[in-house]
Amino acid sequence: MKHCDLVKDLLPLYAENLLSEESRSVVADHLASCPDCRAVMQKMDKDITVRADNDIAVMQRIRRRIRIEKIGIAAAVILFALILLWVLCITMVGTTSRMDYAAYNLAENVTVEEDDAGDLWLVLQNEATSADICMPTVRDSSGNHMGYNEGFSAADKEAYGFTLEHARIYDVIHITMMMPHPQKMLLFNKDDKPEIQEIFYYDADNDTEYVLWERN
Ligand SMILES: [Zn+2]
Repeated sequence: MKHCDLVKDLLPLYAENLLSEESRSVVADHLASCPDCRAVMQKMDKDITVRADNDIAVMQRIRRRIRIEKIGIAAAVILFALILLWVLCITMVGTTSRMDYAAYNLAENVTVEEDDAGDLWLVLQNEATSADICMPTVRDSSGNHMGYNEGFSAADKEAYGFTLEHARIYDVIHITMMMPHPQKMLLFNKDDKPEIQEIFYYDADNDTEYVLWERN
């Protein structure tokens, strides 16, 4: 008596190990004696293996993607922490260091240049580009010192609100590296210039003027 049709119906369940003990042994006995059904069974086994391999590949892809996302988040967190640290360094270290005319070679690093159009430019180089402000004091033809604030006076040499004492140098090397060299700032247009007699840094401690530019 041939059970082939019945066994072939049961083979998928047999392959997945879902048959009862009794049915399982019947199918097993039949497979042992029937090459035809055994061939069907072997093909089914192979298909299941391939499917399992595919599942593993999919799982590995998902796991890899999760890992990449984790690395991305970690990198973002580290970058954010570094930026925070950098900003802290600037605010804490940078504000403790005052501008020193000699130490930062301001005589060489800061100059006032007149271009072909007659405009006056402040040119900052090297350490001077890391200063948060390098605006010099300006004296007009009446002997008053000019700046952003009103109430110019001859005595007040902190015309722009800054003397060398107020100006700060950032000690953090990255600031200097990030600034373009040299850094140029327009001080005055040609039309403003007739009033200007002298441009200088003022050292309040030693009551000394370091002249950057003066009218000939
Ligand atoms: Zn059979």
